[in-house]
Parts: sequence; structure tokens; C-alpha cells
Amino acid sequence: MTELLKSTDYVDVYRLSRDKKVISGSVRLADMKRLAEMALNPDEVFDYKITGMTGKLGWPGAVVAIGGMVQVPCNRCNKPVDVKIERNVIFRFAKNEEEADAIPIEEDDDTEVIVGSEKLNIMNWLEEEIILSIPLVPAHDYACLAGTKTETAEEEIEKPNPFAKLKGMTGLRKG
Ligand SMILES: [Zn+2]
Repeated sequence: MTELLKSTDYVDVYRLSRDKKVISGSVRLADMKRLAEMALNPDEVFDYKITGMTGKLGWPGAVVAIGGMVQVPCNRCNKPVDVKIERNVIFRFAKNEEEADAIPIEEDDDTEVIVGSEKLNIMNWLEEEIILSIPLVPAHDYACLAGTKTETAEEEIEKPNPFAKLKGMTGLRKG
């Protein structure tokens, strides 16, 4: 049996990084404030593993692995959609907001920057990561509402003539 994370559990991220500590266990959706409201399966448990590390240039960091399934209402039919989440994210801990803002974000880099703390609340941290992994507009990957009036209406919307716009632009370029 893995121990369930408590809402008061925290970690000193600098020690975690320096000592390459590993924290693992489970967290219940119902225990996380925002997810408890969003999830249709609040009894579901997510597994997590946090491994302290040091980045290329010596910055403090950690790898967070989190996995589980959260059910949210479909944006079209309102029935439950299963959202499977398997995340492996590298976090870099900045000293403060200013340092966090100053760290450049590279597009091919999946490192996330957060402001570190000697008392970082683990549950809030994991909850944020789970919420970010849920699609903004969750919907079934099949046409759950196919053939309804809404879709027909969309097809009937008149498309503007693309050539009308092009004509005007040619004139501008030459002038
Ligand atoms: Zn649906």
C-alpha cells in the first residue's frame, strides 16, 4: 500500500534537488480542491514520483512523473470522457518570480520553471500539473453528437470569396 498524500505535505525543493531525494506515493482526486470539483471520478487515485536532480548548468530541479485517469464532462454531449494522463516533466526551481521570468523558454525544451520554496506544497504542485494536462475543451474522440442540428447549421454558414480580398492586396503592393 502506498501512502496517500496529505494536503499539508510539503517539500524543501533545494534539499530534494541537492540530495537527489525520491518522493513517491498516491494522491486522491477528491483531496485536491479544484480537481474534486472537476472530476466525475473523485475516488480515483493518481500515482506520482518526484526525483530530485540538478540541471545542466547547476540549477536545482526535479523530475515529476504522474499518471492516472480523470473523468470530465464532454464539451458536446456532457457525458463523461476518460482523460488518461501520463506525464514526465522536468521542473526547474527559480529563486523568485524575477528569476523565473528571466529564464528563456526554448520551444524544444519541455522544462517547466516554477518558483521554488523550502516549503513547497506537494499537492498543489501535482494538482496544477494534472489540470494543465487536461484538454481545454474535453470531448469524445468520436462524433458523439453527429447528425444534430448544430452541425448542419455550421455547414450553411456562407464562406467569403477568397479572391475578393486577394484583388485588393495586389493593388496595394504595386502602389
Ligand atoms: Zn461526447
